[in-house]
Amino acid sequence: MNEKEQLKKAISKIPRVKLVDLPTPLHDCPRFSEAVGGVRVLIKRDDMTGLAFGGNKSRQHEFILGDATAQGANAIIHGAASQSNYSRQLCAACAKLGLKAFIVGKRDLRSQMVGIQGNLLLDHILGADVRLAEDQSKAKKELFEELRKQGYVPYTTDQRKDIVFATVAYTNCALEIHDQLAQLDAKADYVVLCSTSGTQAGLALGGKVLNMGYRTIGFRPSKGGNNEDIISSIASLANEAAEILGLDIRVEEDELENYEDYVGEAYGIVTKEGLDALQLLARTEGILLDPVYVGKAMSGLIDWIRTGKIASGKTVIFVHTGGIPALFAYNKELIEHGGYKIRIAEEE
Ligand SMILES: *Cc1c(COP(=O)(O)O)cnc(C)c1O
Repeated sequence: MNEKEQLKKAISKIPRVKLVDLPTPLHDCPRFSEAVGGVRVLIKRDDMTGLAFGGNKSRQHEFILGDATAQGANAIIHGAASQSNYSRQLCAACAKLGLKAFIVGKRDLRSQMVGIQGNLLLDHILGADVRLAEDQSKAKKELFEELRKQGYVPYTTDQRKDIVFATVAYTNCALEIHDQLAQLDAKADYVVLCSTSGTQAGLALGGKVLNMGYRTIGFRPSKGGNNEDIISSIASLANEAAEILGLDIRVEEDELENYEDYVGEAYGIVTKEGLDALQLLARTEGILLDPVYVGKAMSGLIDWIRTGKIASGKTVIFVHTGGIPALFAYNKELIEHGGYKIRIAEEE
């Protein structure tokens, strides 16, 4: 059995529910590549996983909800930022599987600024029980007990389990990339993405198992932690997943890169460069990015190409991890950045 078959077989042994349309496309972006100069950029379209505007979390939900349903759960509790992509994709997955989603979102600045908009609007449309809290962990515990009393079998998502499942899920994405590059008769030098954890870990592990020779470069969406610590946590995630999958290979820290250089002021606050990147990709390829995660990572890729950190002639796979609904929760910033105006035909 070759590495590919071995990896496929190992993944197939983990309990999993079917949620997403795989493989997601790998799109060549010639007009964008030309605009940024000299590097071939291919975009792995994980914004097209198919559930409620898609995103990287849907891949891991196949495993986390596989775990939950194997335990007989029928109510899923999750807490994150009010504009969480995870929460929105979870609500969609639960709707598809007939589970009840309970979202305990953070009562954060964005929820106060824009109310029920973007991802938070979709959570409601998707039928979840949505509430916001200052102390999410207390609220989740109380909800868990309340649901148990009501006769539900509740399941609270677990962050560690989640990111390990994300890692496993992204080794599968590496398998897809492997086949898609073969079809294009291309080889990737870099995989660039917005990540701090499982998504990068899985792509690094999968790439190594399949001997694809690319280097993963992650740009974080938030500040905090130094590069060494983050890289070390990504390596240990990859290696935990390797053990679960029964793979002999280990990912070393010096094979990984992860930076916070393009976050700007803070998580969830737009940067001019991120909005420029978002607008450039939209206008050259018709592909949308979000302002919180992927737009900022794309501004990193553009900067690396323009400053020669990624040399011309190289091939980059940029992984689009989703997040598009947040565009609507940031419409004010986008309008201001783009100078968009309502123009009245009769008045011109
Ligand atoms: C969650 C998220 C990420 C980060 O994924 P990790 O696997 O936690 O690194 C990146 N982009 C988007 C759009 C996300 O929602």
